[in-house]
Amino acid sequence: MISLKRNPAGDTVPATGLRTRAYSIYSPGQSESFRISRSKFNDFLSCNRCFYLDRVKGIVSPSLPGWTLNATTDLLLKKEFDECREKQIPHRLFQKYDLDHVVPFQHPDIDHWRDALRGGIEHHVSETNIVLHGGIDDVWYDNKRKQLIVAEYKSQANNNPVTPESYLSNVYHESYKVQLDVYAYLFKSMGFEVAQVGYFYVCNAYRNKPGFDGRLEFEETLVPYELDYSWVEAEVLRMSSVLNSNQLPDNNPACENCAYSRQRALL
Ligand code: SF4
Repeated sequence: MISLKRNPAGDTVPATGLRTRAYSIYSPGQSESFRISRSKFNDFLSCNRCFYLDRVKGIVSPSLPGWTLNATTDLLLKKEFDECREKQIPHRLFQKYDLDHVVPFQHPDIDHWRDALRGGIEHHVSETNIVLHGGIDDVWYDNKRKQLIVAEYKSQANNNPVTPESYLSNVYHESYKVQLDVYAYLFKSMGFEVAQVGYFYVCNAYRNKPGFDGRLEFEETLVPYELDYSWVEAEVLRMSSVLNSNQLPDNNPACENCAYSRQRALL
């Protein structure tokens, strides 16, 4: 994809490929705490080298356009869930899944937790100077077990019906599972009781309609996911040692971007 750098007015401007905000760059050996978002943590898990180039060397990856259709389903679901949160009633889909005892969690910080850019949930991981944080889509409350349930809204368009098995075994959904694991870890570290099962609220757009007719229709499915956040701290410790090293880590040989750069360098 060709990505052109633009200023807020939409004019193209020279792209330097470098970060300008010093606070987003880590100095190996620094003692000050350093914030790492859930998505940057996921970058680390995908490729240590690109993560290092970004966070330590300040080299920016090409930007991606926003996913406005997905963001719109998130926004509309948020409105629905906020209405239920206000009234402390289960969402309309919960009955189908025997979740009548579950309601959207009401907490004074809910908007802060959902603000991925300026807020989020966070935890300072012990034995490191890393503050891991992430902006959640939602969190629900199990009134029977008195536990939080982590939840993420996901939108897609697929001809096949969504089943928990097909959804969770899809390799492209691995990072979604990491996302829920990290949120569960963060809530647990913040002192909350967290249910062992989280949910993906999957909105799957029908593609077999005879025509568009000005609207997309979705099938909605709750996919339960058995959380496992036992691995998170060990990976944060590994990430910390990568950040504090002066050595560039290996790249991921499966990466098409690196293959593209290598081929270009040969010209
Ligand atoms: S393999 Fe190369 S381009 Fe791909 S993520 Fe890693 S450093 Fe970046």
